[in-house]
Amino acid sequence: MENFEAIGLKPEIIEAITALGFEKPTPVQQQAIPFLLSSKQDLIALAQTGTGKTAAFGLPVINQIDPKNKNVQALVLCPTRELCLQITKELGNYLAKSKDIQVTAVYGGESIDKQIRQLRRGVHIVAGTPGRTLDLIKREKLKIDNIQWLVLDEADEMLSMGFKDDLDAILSQTPDEKQTLLFSATMPYEMKSIVRDYMTDPMELSAGKKNVSADTVEHTYCVVAGRHKYEALKRIANIHPNIYGIIFCRTRKETKAIADQLGQDHYNADAIHGDLSQAQRELVMHRFRNRHLQLLVATDVAARGIDVNDLSHVINYQLPDTVATYIHRTGRTGRAGKEGMAISLVSGRERDFMRSVERKIGKKVIKKMIPTGQEICERQLFTLIDKVKNVEVNEEQISPYLEATMEKLSVFEREELIKRFVSVEFNRFLKDYEDAPDLNDFSRERRKPSFDHGGRRGGRGSGRNGYTRYKRFFINVGTSDHLTAPRLLGLINEQFHGEKVPVGKIELLRNFSFFEIDQQFATKLPSRFNGVTFEGKGVEVEEAQAKRRNHDRSYDRGGRGGGGRGGYGNNNSSGRKRIKRKRKYN
Ligand code: ADP
Ligand code: MG
Repeated sequence: MENFEAIGLKPEIIEAITALGFEKPTPVQQQAIPFLLSSKQDLIALAQTGTGKTAAFGLPVINQIDPKNKNVQALVLCPTRELCLQITKELGNYLAKSKDIQVTAVYGGESIDKQIRQLRRGVHIVAGTPGRTLDLIKREKLKIDNIQWLVLDEADEMLSMGFKDDLDAILSQTPDEKQTLLFSATMPYEMKSIVRDYMTDPMELSAGKKNVSADTVEHTYCVVAGRHKYEALKRIANIHPNIYGIIFCRTRKETKAIADQLGQDHYNADAIHGDLSQAQRELVMHRFRNRHLQLLVATDVAARGIDVNDLSHVINYQLPDTVATYIHRTGRTGRAGKEGMAISLVSGRERDFMRSVERKIGKKVIKKMIPTGQEICERQLFTLIDKVKNVEVNEEQISPYLEATMEKLSVFEREELIKRFVSVEFNRFLKDYEDAPDLNDFSRERRKPSFDHGGRRGGRGSGRNGYTRYKRFFINVGTSDHLTAPRLLGLINEQFHGEKVPVGKIELLRNFSFFEIDQQFATKLPSRFNGVTFEGKGVEVEEAQAKRRNHDRSYDRGGRGGGGRGGYGNNNSSGRKRIKRKRKYN
């Protein structure tokens, strides 16, 4: 199968996906689309994240939707709100030229009334999380008795997030004669019962994994609050004095603002964006290509067609909308066997995106700390020393001044002289970073950072710029008591009557744990825990003495396994509870 036309999709759909830049079907699409266009048999499709599964089920379903039939014809179930929105958006794109087909998303955490109103207007395709979908079915606001397609997207994730009961409840209400499509990256054991109970003689297909990212790129991210982002960007530039890279922003306005600010702060930076004339754009590109500019700030659109290959860094000042765009952006570094680094500045919430990246590229995305002032001063110093060592001395040009210079400096010993020369440059950074705050955002920390544990401590301490100072505590409960990071947060906040106590890093261990809380609350903390019990055990909390580095090393270095999952994981007796908790978040 060569192209989409040959598969037999309607012209308006082809037009829409061509505009999206789809040229050829991906392997899973090549297999699934023709099958779904011609057969009513159930389907199980296994393919990695990022292989185009949405279109694999979306295109053939859309192709067969009857716009005049006002019933919900297709229901797509997926594990998270983000995915719901993503699927709705993606399907919406495919429907750009088919305005008479409506698609909507239903998910928890948002007004159900709004979603009910949308459903009432008549929609053909619904993408929903299991909890909210079931709720709407029970309220009889979402009628699924006439659906022809039921899609279980990221089925393995849905099961691992505890949606099995909800899925059972929904599936049991669907009509018999529909076609059920199960899309998943893996086929866990639990899924067998879904297949057995709700699918009939399914066709199975699996599509191989694509190698999408160069091995020479190191993918990293830093968690930083929005208000510290610019400062963090500067620190990254400062810790890599020879940086040669692109900084990606989402909007023209931001692109301009960041480039202007970098210029004012004496960085070699400029922007390209849609407001530039062709001549201006060429000038900027010329300077960048010749390395007169070290940093180019750009939007995705403006960066299209940039033919610079040997970037040392790609920085995502803002994350792109899709993982595919992320890969496109970061593919501009690490070319031709050279090493490159991708750095994304993300909020606590956006870490999920980095997990998707991880899954798609099949490679670990490393969490890095934003460098401290001290680290930057150190790096700048040694860069300066290297420069001094390697500088080319132009005897002829400098000789007229040498005599006078020597005389002026003759009062200093060799050592003193070196100190002074070095200080000229070094002081600038020292001054910039005197009392510099720690910019890493720990407010949503649910698990241990992957590395660089001690790094941030050095920078902490001044309390300027409103960042939080933490104290570290020991608590005598751990994962064997079914403690998870969310439960620990709940436990702490409960003792402060629901006041929101800033909590820093949490380390869950088997029989005990550590956590950090805002200093302001620290003195009151132990007394607040008087008489408190957790899972029937008397809770004891005390200020932690020294850091237990051994534990830090051994504890969960994995990329996944966040608070919610890690703790309960393989404990059957508590599985039920986990499902309850999870459902609340849906
Ligand atoms: P998955 O569900 O397998 O993780 P998605 O359906 O989210 O993957 O697709 C990932 C990205 O690839 C999306 O941005 C989508 O628009 C894009 N994409 C899908 N199919 C194609 C194609 N045939 N050609 C180009 N891009 C595609
Ligand atoms: Mg998907």
